[in-house]
Amino acid sequence: MKTILVAGGAGYIGSHMVAELHDKGYDVVVADNLCTGHRGAVTHGTLCVGDVRDGEFLDRVFTEHKIDGVINFAAFSLVGESCTDPLKYYGNNVAGAVSMLGAMRRHGVDKIVFSSTAATYGEPEKQPIDELDRTCPTNPYGETKLAIEKMLHWCDAAYGIKFAALRYFNAAGANNAAGIGEDHSPESHLIPIVLQVALGKREHIGIFGDDYPTRDGTCIRDYVDVRDLASAHLLALEFLDREKTSGVFNLGSGNGFSVREIIEAARKVTGHPIPAKVAPRRAGDPSTLIASNRRAVEILGWKPRHSGLDDIIGSAWNWHQSHPDGYAE
Ligand code: NAD
Ligand code: UDP
Repeated sequence: MKTILVAGGAGYIGSHMVAELHDKGYDVVVADNLCTGHRGAVTHGTLCVGDVRDGEFLDRVFTEHKIDGVINFAAFSLVGESCTDPLKYYGNNVAGAVSMLGAMRRHGVDKIVFSSTAATYGEPEKQPIDELDRTCPTNPYGETKLAIEKMLHWCDAAYGIKFAALRYFNAAGANNAAGIGEDHSPESHLIPIVLQVALGKREHIGIFGDDYPTRDGTCIRDYVDVRDLASAHLLALEFLDREKTSGVFNLGSGNGFSVREIIEAARKVTGHPIPAKVAPRRAGDPSTLIASNRRAVEILGWKPRHSGLDDIIGSAWNWHQSHPDGYAE
């Protein structure tokens, strides 16, 4: 496999994928409309600016480049916004995936790695969560990702397009050697917000609820390094190529940390006090999400190498210090 089309490759996780593919000797073509991505995040390959919902745009990309496989990151991913504007999420996420699969069919490309999410599980029945556990999303964002997973299943059955649906838990960290990191606007994720407080760009971090049934009352999440996510996608592509079968895989470190534990770890890594205030719960937050990553480890041969909490916060902190205004575009 030589040339990989990375849809959404100008975004946070996609840009780390592009760097990983380049490092491993692949040619990369990025398709991105830059709605939340950054031109400056695309460090290698060819950037084609356009919308994946536009079939003619995709036809040009697939005609101009001989694409061997697709990795699709292109989506909207703000849980709260998906609750107030679900059609925006179905319209981009589901329609974008329909359009991409149609283009793959037209151009004879039969392998896709898809960005799914722990939000497909909703409120889990047990911890750690494995891939056979009930999927019952509590918000439209998770519903769109689950709908796409089901569509991928039927497209495999009908057209033989093999897929790996990767359910990420909480992506964090940065690739400082490549000069890329997390720059969402607005930023909603815990670790970058905590580091913005350390940088003096925010006065305090609001803790969304301290009355959850957890060890300190704050929500527990599984934070996984963005470079480890990228390496898993490459293994998933190789798996599709080798095994010619589809699969669903959790991508998490297997460890859970509470909001208070993240703030405390960030205080140690940064040496800043990071004031925190308890705020109301955020709608739709499950109390605990921890991945079982056994399938990815055993079947894909994945080894998360950078997902220790201090490593994740340390690499994110380096990025925030060197890029206090993100990509400043
Ligand atoms: P991001 O917003 O940084 O990246 C998404 C990229 O897709 C952006 O570059 C954006 O411009 C592009 N895009 C969106 N719609 C498009 C369209 N119609 N046509 C072309 N390009 C389009 O998001 P991210 O944090 O890097 O997340 C990447 C993927 O991973 C998303 O699908 C998201 O749902 C999923 N995910 C992220 C996390 C996380 O913790 N960040 C967790 C689970 C799943
Ligand atoms: N969180 C918080 N304050 C913030 C942002 C997030 O307390 O300013 C909490 C949030 O409620 C969740 C955890 O931190 O329990 C991780 O949130 P994030 O948005 O990073 O990821 P999510 O788990 O929602 O995908």
